[in-house]
Amino acid sequence: MSKLKVAVYWAAGCGGCDVGLLDVNEALLEVLKDIDIVFWPVAMDVKYKDLESLPNLDVAIVNGSIRNEENEHIVKLLRSKARTLVAFGSCACEGGTQGLANLGSKQDMLKTVYEETPTTGNPQAVKPSRVFKAPEGELYLPDILELNKPIESVAKVDYYVSGCPPPVKLILRLFQILTAGNAQGPKFYIGSDKSVCDECRRERVSKTVQSMNRLYRRALDPEKCFLEQGLLCMGPATRGGCGAKCVEANVPCGGCGGRLNVSDQGARMIGALGSILTTDEPISIGALEALKDPVGALYKYCFSSSLIGRGVRVGGGGR
Ligand code: SF4
Ligand code: SF4
Repeated sequence: MSKLKVAVYWAAGCGGCDVGLLDVNEALLEVLKDIDIVFWPVAMDVKYKDLESLPNLDVAIVNGSIRNEENEHIVKLLRSKARTLVAFGSCACEGGTQGLANLGSKQDMLKTVYEETPTTGNPQAVKPSRVFKAPEGELYLPDILELNKPIESVAKVDYYVSGCPPPVKLILRLFQILTAGNAQGPKFYIGSDKSVCDECRRERVSKTVQSMNRLYRRALDPEKCFLEQGLLCMGPATRGGCGAKCVEANVPCGGCGGRLNVSDQGARMIGALGSILTTDEPISIGALEALKDPVGALYKYCFSSSLIGRGVRVGGGGR
């Protein structure tokens, strides 16, 4: 059997997913017996024209979200060439943490990043411009899009592997499926069909809690469910497959595995909170006030793909 021709592209993300691919360690040598990586900008010196001149690909693996016009162009180009497109990591699958910038406009985001953050020293408020005239000629930067988006918003995705970055076990499963050549049908999730709670060994006793609290304010019982200790843990609303590794390390699940059989992960979590919070009042935003940043906590990785994210008004317009 000839080797699969594979392209790997880093769209708008932190690079952790590229490192995640290397986390498979020596198993990568086995994987490379069956695949040829023909495009991987972070590891190879390749240019746009190299990708454009490539004949068809077997697989394109994309990490990161669609944040600028280059991301959109390259993902569409990869889709046009590849038999199989893989959304790799929470940013590609759900839009990632940068999706929270969709709460404001593009101009709000640029102002925050280039003028307002405490570590920014930029007295002249210089911001990226599309064209920069240098002595050597004109340089172009891809334009930032108004909204951050998961890659399925610009190209049909065949396989999703969520996680920030995806766990090694799921990466190896992805390569097993790809090299076995047995197509899994559209929108196939490489992960569990159950939630993180189903993989968690913590003890659940009362299944109720009076109010939510913040992590640093509590002495934690390492054996007991975080939610029952009043700490937000996204386990009930998050796709498993990770083995509940964060929870094992005494950190509540942040939700990077993505939504599980629902269209809105945060809303699913609010439903779960509604069923365990016991107050005399109807469950209201007041019960969530201790979270301080409810949207950031409940939609940390998925705001771009959430129902409320789709309804956010930007610059006076709608989506
Ligand atoms: S999913 Fe996580 S590790 Fe991967 S690019 Fe996005 S932020 Fe980085
Ligand atoms: S809510 Fe968190 S701590 Fe509780 S069972 Fe689920 S994953 Fe485990």
